[in-house]
Amino acid sequence: MLTSSRQCRCCGATFAQLLSLSCDRPDQCPEDLVVQDNSAVLAQTGDVLTDDFCRIGDLRFVRAVLAIPLADSDGQEFILGTWANLGVEDFDAYLDLLDMQETESLGSRPAWLANAIPPDNGTPVACMLHMRPEGQYPELQVSEPNNPLAPLQNQGAQLEELFELLHTYGHDLASLVYDS
Ligand SMILES: [Zn+2]
Repeated sequence: MLTSSRQCRCCGATFAQLLSLSCDRPDQCPEDLVVQDNSAVLAQTGDVLTDDFCRIGDLRFVRAVLAIPLADSDGQEFILGTWANLGVEDFDAYLDLLDMQETESLGSRPAWLANAIPPDNGTPVACMLHMRPEGQYPELQVSEPNNPLAPLQNQGAQLEELFELLHTYGHDLASLVYDS
């Protein structure tokens, strides 16, 4: 089932493709802000959105991933490309270290999940942002044990729970898998 190459009815994506979804901007970033090359974050002042960075007023965001392991799946994960809201000092340190490819030395920093997951869940979620080796986006780990994302992240999601989550993004996979 997990390697199914069948496609979602709504968008044509395969199940494998739906195992990674991506948010192109933090929820607090206006929709009309154009995505620029990463160099714009240093070259410009004021509000800016690039592939991996975002600055809105006093708010600072970096692209991150949030992984939800699939229960009973030999280590497959649902990877959500999302954004982390972190402090100005940590953001500046991240940018400085990026040049030297040493962001991993930042270790783990407190951050807020900057996209509602699922999309209708508007409460900000406290996380830890774990830096990873060069070339990999830092990874968000939910640090509120009572948030519904915490057990999914810690114990893994059942397939049905993953379908439910995907469905909140408009993807209709359950019927697709069970119909045939
Ligand atoms: Zn779809």
